[in-house]
Amino acid sequence: MKQIIALFKEYYRKAQLILPKDYALREFAIQPFNSNTYIRHLAFSSVNELRKYILEKIPRHLYYSSARYENPGLKDMESKKWLGSDLVFDIDVDHIPDCNITEYWICPNKHVFTNEQIKDNRCPICGASLEKTSIVTDECITKGVRELVKLVDILVEDFGFTKDKIKSYFSGHRGFHVHVELNEQDSLMDSNIRREIVDYILGLGINIHQLKLTDEKIGRVKRHALLPRINDYGWRRRIAKALIEYKKDLNVEDIIVDYVSGKLQPNVSHTLNNAGVILENLIDKAKVLVDEKVTIDIHRLIRIPGSINGKTGLMVTELKSIESFKLTPKLSPFKGYAVLKPFIDLKNMSIMSMKIDLRKNTPVKIELPIAIYIHLKGLGEIMRII
Ligand SMILES: [Zn+2]
Repeated sequence: MKQIIALFKEYYRKAQLILPKDYALREFAIQPFNSNTYIRHLAFSSVNELRKYILEKIPRHLYYSSARYENPGLKDMESKKWLGSDLVFDIDVDHIPDCNITEYWICPNKHVFTNEQIKDNRCPICGASLEKTSIVTDECITKGVRELVKLVDILVEDFGFTKDKIKSYFSGHRGFHVHVELNEQDSLMDSNIRREIVDYILGLGINIHQLKLTDEKIGRVKRHALLPRINDYGWRRRIAKALIEYKKDLNVEDIIVDYVSGKLQPNVSHTLNNAGVILENLIDKAKVLVDEKVTIDIHRLIRIPGSINGKTGLMVTELKSIESFKLTPKLSPFKGYAVLKPFIDLKNMSIMSMKIDLRKNTPVKIELPIAIYIHLKGLGEIMRII
């Protein structure tokens, strides 16, 4: 681990951390190596002061608060005096159904097992308690990107935030963060208001009848369903978008697609066959799987863009173009090679878009970013850096 800590230190000597203009009003926190607890309630009045602290402590994880405080360095939350928070979102691919994450169990004595090899929470070799670790697949990250695209679309089209106020970041591990810079008034939104925003994004409490998406009888009057169109607002627009995107999977007729996408003029005779099932399906696809806890927490600590995620060795990276994002070794600040000894077979795998075929206990020369990733995941150890 010493070698990795030295690499982190070298990185932070020159690292370009992306800090908000008002960083002096933010609480900072770090998790050092070899510690499971955070050092919290830190405050810095200059970037040099922050860098000096980081080089002394070498953080495995580095955070600042989404909130601004009058006294960010005080321990007591009341005395800190809250001044408002950014709006933040977290998309964790772990929460996306059908996401293929390869799981392993590791013990402190470097014994590693797959799910099938263990019975309980104890190491079958030495009896120590096991911890879960995982490798995120590229395919899973692609699914996360899809969620991110939907989220940004909603923030722009439905909430009216301008694109320059919305920044998207790869978390360095298995997710994406979105920070929305708010004006002073909006930054004072409390948790309840933020929960309303999350509910809208998650589609909680959505009502198909209210959206006029199904035929309805009110007394003797029959009201026909009105198909959603791309130039509608709110959930009707989101459903229209999903219909166009998934027209093939859902077997939707061409004439309906033309109407929904605005190519054909409105006509009440356009109805969706099997509407109930298809609509449920579309709502499901139009939901964005954000972690609600993160958004409603006005005191949340968020990873600093430009810092390294100590679970992987990858940088928290701003996405300039969301759709083209790929998990690659370029997300690591480290270059070169290392000799790595894997603790378990890692066969026919893809890590960061690279094909991996490693045998247990057989040292191998491998790209440094991949070696660091496997080491930090507890699935192997770096013997030397070359
Ligand atoms: Zn063991």
